[in-house]
Amino acid sequence: MDIRNNITLIKNRLATEKCELVAVSKKQPIEKMKEAYDAGQRIFGENKVQELCMKQPLLPADILWHLIGHLQTNKVKQIVPFVSLIHSVDSYKLLEEINKQAKKINRIVNCLLQIHIAQEETKFGFDEKEVIDLIQSDKIVSLDSIRIIGLMGMATFTENQDRVRTEFKKLKNLFNHLGQIKLPAQVIMKELSMGMSQDYEIALEEGSTLIRVGTAVFGSRPTPV
Ligand SMILES: *Cc1c(COP(=O)(O)O)cnc(C)c1O
Repeated sequence: MDIRNNITLIKNRLATEKCELVAVSKKQPIEKMKEAYDAGQRIFGENKVQELCMKQPLLPADILWHLIGHLQTNKVKQIVPFVSLIHSVDSYKLLEEINKQAKKINRIVNCLLQIHIAQEETKFGFDEKEVIDLIQSDKIVSLDSIRIIGLMGMATFTENQDRVRTEFKKLKNLFNHLGQIKLPAQVIMKELSMGMSQDYEIALEEGSTLIRVGTAVFGSRPTPV
């Protein structure tokens, strides 16, 4: 697996799109991440707080760290000082906690709201109605240390490309809809995080602005960490 080559290929594909690559480095060793960094990659995505906090001090300071996995409220405090974007906000309670911890250290933390678009029951996220209600509610207005800059979604894990496309279209429609209604000052529909190694081509065609790609950059994930 030539990481530099993989990154170049994906970046060439993105050159004509308004879309950035999040290199998903979960379970990958630091050396491989350095290879990606040396190839020019600056945005890295991790899905676990512990791994993110362990890796962050070991790598260059200009990396933009994204959390892409489920976040528990009791772990928010650990990442708020340095995280650049949290893709996986799936409850109001979590938003409140991020706001509280960010306020304490005088930071504003960028968040995406995770939307449940897949068929699978287990995936986290808001449904459409929940997110429309939340975004328009007064509850958001008081959270002045967060910024909601868009939405994130994961398609069903399936070979069925039509199904995946339908799910991405649904998310893009919601994104467009929210972009048209009156929103609180700290909400702006700018980023749409969708697409992984196996479906990022479809996601790009459907308007993704952030693809989260792991195995197609680093090769298969070694286990354990
Ligand atoms: C692991 C992961 C990815 C990347 O998956 P690949 O198939 O390796 O590209 C993207 N998004 C989330 C939320 C993940 O957990």
